[in-house]
Amino acid sequence: MGARGVVVIGAGQGGLDTAAALRARGYRGRITLVGDEPALPYQRPPLSKGFLTGDTAAGELELRPRAFFAAQNVELLSGIRATKIDRERRAVLLETGATLPYDSLVLATGARPRTLPVPGAGSLSGVLTLRGLADAEDLRERLTGPPRRLVVIGAGFIGLELAATARRLGHEVTVVEAQGRALARALTPAMSARLVAEHVDAGVRVLLDREVTGLWGESAGRVEVVELDGAERIPADLVVVGIGVLPNTELAALAELQVGDGILVDAQLRTDDPDIYALGDCARFPSPHAGRHLRLESVQNASDQAKCVAAGICGDRVPYTAVPWFWSEQYGLRLQIAGLTAGHDETVVVGDPDAGRFSVFCFREDRLTGVESVNRPADHGIARRLLASGTELTADDVRRPGFDLKTHVRGPQERLSHA
Ligand code: FAD
Ligand code: NAP
Repeated sequence: MGARGVVVIGAGQGGLDTAAALRARGYRGRITLVGDEPALPYQRPPLSKGFLTGDTAAGELELRPRAFFAAQNVELLSGIRATKIDRERRAVLLETGATLPYDSLVLATGARPRTLPVPGAGSLSGVLTLRGLADAEDLRERLTGPPRRLVVIGAGFIGLELAATARRLGHEVTVVEAQGRALARALTPAMSARLVAEHVDAGVRVLLDREVTGLWGESAGRVEVVELDGAERIPADLVVVGIGVLPNTELAALAELQVGDGILVDAQLRTDDPDIYALGDCARFPSPHAGRHLRLESVQNASDQAKCVAAGICGDRVPYTAVPWFWSEQYGLRLQIAGLTAGHDETVVVGDPDAGRFSVFCFREDRLTGVESVNRPADHGIARRLLASGTELTADDVRRPGFDLKTHVRGPQERLSHA
């Protein structure tokens, strides 16, 4: 262990969890966590859900109480931006002019919302994105009060969760999506269709396969109209753009680390500089589950990668192999996804989609790659175990009458004797 210690840039989910995991492993060196947001590190998931309705208070968002930082001897520099990495001197430069030397550096800089490249998107007020607490506070204030006409651009996780929340608050909501279905990259067609049906039942207008061509406003530079396909005009009091994110790779690129839709890391999450790691939304890593490099944008990924990085810094070099999982909440539906469902060539639906309790099992070349579940938490839990252990499950297994997922948790030998 060197005297300089560990510097973590980015005090979000992955950055905070790295500091906590280092201490949990008994790392005794200096740990400095640098974050450009003013608040204590907080959870983002409630920002599109309970925080907007008032069910979750700001204080409940904190990942750890202030006392944690003193007790664990983690130096938290909040509201300060890291501006440069000097790899030769192994030091991070801060916007304050201060320099932080490091033995190991962790880049946990997250991602930022993509902007909509149409007239009005960058200039009108009332056009928002949702990434951080400040965005959510602004949005919450605008959604408090009389019903407003909200147009959400993008039927991804942000768009759909926000639509559900805004409907609950009594607003009139239209969702506009460029693709032919919602969450096309993340979910199977069956799951997309079920979610959209839920939104339509709740009174949301969902417009698929539509291009936003302009945002217009006449009075006081405030948005009033969303223009679609250069023709249709939808009135709007408020527009939220949720069309995906861009990884924050600028610091890494400036330091001449390899980047390309994320900071490129190896199986142990090290960049091409062995003293520098990257994790979470900003990192592109080789996934054994996908069989290729990818970036994942989820709490589980940031959190589990933090543990892997902490292990590496402590000299325990293990590859990152955790089974990915995600969740979303919309209306009464709890959607859980185990594994990766993109790239499947076969699906089998179990349960009753109309009753809002079902799972979609996804296979590629007859191997289970992921399971999407709605209100079937047991399927999700077991699927994660099956995927982690590499237990084989075929589409025919799932189709068989009387299929019971629980019986597949055991090894193949035991499964035979059980049958
Ligand atoms: P972040 O948590 O974004 O942290 C990165 C931090 O680094 C930020 O604070 C950023 O400001 C800071 N930073 C960047 N550059 C610098 C710099 N140069 N100097 C200092 N600081 C810097 N995931 C789920 O799994 N389930 C959900 O239900 C869910 N809901 C979500 C709802 C919302 C509204 C949002 C925005 C995201 C949601 N996510 C959800 C995604 C999840 O929050 C992210 O995947 C996760 O936070 C990624 O962690 P991270 O540490 O990589 O990045
Ligand atoms: P997202 O899930 O990537 O979805 C963005 C959606 O907008 C995609 O369907 C995208 O289509 C579409 N789109 C892109 N350009 C468009 C355009 N010009 N007009 C209309 N639609 C367009 O991203 P997000 O919903 O913005 O979420 C941002 C981040 O927050 C992500 O990291 C997400 O994982 C995270 N988040 C996660 C959760 C959760 O896990 N429950 C909840 C909220 C937020 P293409 O696929 O073609 O680009």
